[in-house]
Amino acid sequence: MVALSIVVPCFNEEACLAALHERLSTAARNCVGDDYEIVLVNDGSRDKSWELMRTMAAGDSHVVAVNLSRNHGHQLALTAGLDLCRGETIMIIDADLQDPPELLPDMVQAMRRQEADVVYGVRRSRSGETAFKRATAHGFYRLLSRATEVDIPLDAGDFRLMSRRALDALLAMPEQARFIRGMVAWIGFRQVPFAYDRQERFAGKTKYPLKKMMRFALDALTGFSSAPLKLASHVGLALSVGSILLILYIAYAWAAGRNIQGWTSLMLVVVVIGAVQMFVLALMGEYIGRLYNEAKRRPLYIVQEVVGDPRAEARLGYIADATAKSDNPGGRGKRPTR
Ligand code: UDP
Ligand code: MG
Repeated sequence: MVALSIVVPCFNEEACLAALHERLSTAARNCVGDDYEIVLVNDGSRDKSWELMRTMAAGDSHVVAVNLSRNHGHQLALTAGLDLCRGETIMIIDADLQDPPELLPDMVQAMRRQEADVVYGVRRSRSGETAFKRATAHGFYRLLSRATEVDIPLDAGDFRLMSRRALDALLAMPEQARFIRGMVAWIGFRQVPFAYDRQERFAGKTKYPLKKMMRFALDALTGFSSAPLKLASHVGLALSVGSILLILYIAYAWAAGRNIQGWTSLMLVVVVIGAVQMFVLALMGEYIGRLYNEAKRRPLYIVQEVVGDPRAEARLGYIADATAKSDNPGGRGKRPTR
């Protein structure tokens, strides 16, 4: 056990790593002295990130470098780091220094003073991000909060501080499609916001292209709400009412001996109903696809190598175990023993 773990998922972040290491180390030292670890997770980077991490871990006993077998995505890379870390208090931060590490002491203080289990960063402003990203993020968080039953905080990312018991609760959730900020909100305990200004990326480009953003948004929506499924019943109800009115009109027109225009009205009905049905099918498909994915119970990620933590090997028994231990919830295999 260490007092503080800082967990950082990294994907093609070679240009940020040196500055990240330095600023995180300073912040951690200011907070807890020597009793900390920095867990860097390489999420299948194609640049020199892994070489840099390995060198860092060799030169600094506080650094643990974890190499995943391929790019598993931000949320799973983060999960790998969280699984491996040994801290009493855990900080999650991005590698690009958009979230200033210097806020760590203030966040730790907020945690102590308010006896909170989670202190989550809320973005007061976001600089250096495109208007499109800001607008979609703004809209997305509001849509999500309307659609879900869990109170997911608005404009909060994964930048946060967690207590060990909150983290253990999070790690007990086995799902594949992970929307970690929502899962943390689901846990409960005392969670307090911490307002800060999001900086520009230190270097490099965003690793969240539109496609990944969409998948992330869909994971969040489907993971936390069944409201889209209920849409079908609302639309169905509306169409039923419409059809009753239409029948009444047709009966009236028939009795009055009036002929109804054929092609136009027919096409209208066929096209509208066809489109609605396809849309609802697609929605259901979205959920079924996710069910299928969860049903496979694969491990969430595969670790190729860990440098800087000699006990990690033992804690990573899950790779060999995943297939054998089918009674294990989520197929994540042996829970790491700390
Ligand atoms: N990231 C990752 N795997 C991915 C994509 C991103 O580990 O497939 C990491 C990335 O290195 C960064 C964090 O997730 O540390 C957030 O990504 P980014 O800063 O590009 O997202 P943005 O801030 O633009 O939303
Ligand atoms: Mg970023």
